[in-house]
Amino acid sequence: MIPFSKVAYYTLGCKLNFSETSSISRDLMEAGYARVDFFDHPDVYVINTCSVTDNADKKCRKLVKDALNHSPKAFVVIIGCYSQLKPKEISEIPGVSLVLGAQEKFNISKYLKNINTGDAVKVINSSIKEIEEFVPAFSNNERTRSFLKVQDGCDYHCSFCTIPLARGKSRSSSVVKIVATANEIVESGIQEIVLTGVNIGDFGNGTDESFFDLLKELNNIKGLNRIRISSIEPNLLTKEIVTLVSNSNKIMPHFHIPLQSGSNEILKAMRRKYDREHYQSKVELIHQLIDNCCIGVDVIVGYPGETEDYFLETFNFLNELNIAYLHVFTYSERDNTTALRSDQVVPMADRTKRRKMLQILSEKKKRKFYSDNISNIQSALFEGENKDGFISGFTNNYIRVKTEFDAKKINTINKIKLISLDEDCVMTGSIVKQEELLTNSYSN
Ligand code: SF4
Repeated sequence: MIPFSKVAYYTLGCKLNFSETSSISRDLMEAGYARVDFFDHPDVYVINTCSVTDNADKKCRKLVKDALNHSPKAFVVIIGCYSQLKPKEISEIPGVSLVLGAQEKFNISKYLKNINTGDAVKVINSSIKEIEEFVPAFSNNERTRSFLKVQDGCDYHCSFCTIPLARGKSRSSSVVKIVATANEIVESGIQEIVLTGVNIGDFGNGTDESFFDLLKELNNIKGLNRIRISSIEPNLLTKEIVTLVSNSNKIMPHFHIPLQSGSNEILKAMRRKYDREHYQSKVELIHQLIDNCCIGVDVIVGYPGETEDYFLETFNFLNELNIAYLHVFTYSERDNTTALRSDQVVPMADRTKRRKMLQILSEKKKRKFYSDNISNIQSALFEGENKDGFISGFTNNYIRVKTEFDAKKINTINKIKLISLDEDCVMTGSIVKQEELLTNSYSN
């Protein structure tokens, strides 16, 4: 056994990965391992990888190299989606000592105890089909908000996606357990909980609980000021959920809803569970029930078979839709996906051109959404950093706003009037005092 004592972490990818790294680091602290900075000469590096990221392999190699440059004798553990999907490839990266799969990553201390000097690279990886257990996680490294994992895995079979292969079948915790964890987070002084998972609308699948049940209970937690839903599939976003959000002053008026394409032919090829008309009806429902709600959209360009006409359908659909921003992804080929079988490959130059067009559209949408909010009074939760004399935070409807720095504002929710927008779409606001509120009408 090697006497390890200091561990550094690096996380690639999504909020779910961040919540899991945070929980893994707490477990290791309980087992006696201190958490240290990446450059603080740790004995162990834990790198939590992502399979969605382009060039996962390159990024992983670079991180291992950087880690060993700083701490040449460190022991490098690779976990996360990429290590479940490509364990052999990772084990061949020079400097890697241990590769753990989707379930094994939650038992790092057990594996560290059994390592001896001179051991060959170990790969410990169960078959993803066998994984039934839901392992809870939440992040607590930020003072203001916590990413709380409520669900894992996915039973959908979108043709381009490797996540079900990396994370397994859909499973979740119970409402009672999540509420207990949420209470623990609130007691630590955190103001906002962001609900995360792979397909969170599928929460409770196979039980008699639903995502709506979970939201209802979280909404009743005393002392919890903000709940944000990270992302939800359009077919799982029900009218009762939207109505609950519209009647709640805790669940933020902000939805992130994956669209992926505005062409019904491409949606069908992708095996998505809705068409564009269904998607549009959800956006309309939200705006009918919730004033000034922020809606973000995921979209993929260059999926096999996406002709110029199909792309323009997507572009025009999004251009007309009342949404606030886009997250644009360029389609990239992934092993073991059905999309890979198509021979209607879109040339990379076209994918790049389409991505840029949608990014420009996203900027335009965001500017419009922000501009429409100028003069409104919103609530903002301020984060810690003093950046050039300013403190910033997000409003309920997800507008980042900055105002003059005041240390007393850190981790507090304040009413703020949105005043002006600069060229880079940065909103400046001014804090509204209690007396002013009594004489003004305000939103949210
Ligand atoms: S819903 Fe589709 S894209 Fe999302 S994780 Fe499941 S299979 Fe992947």
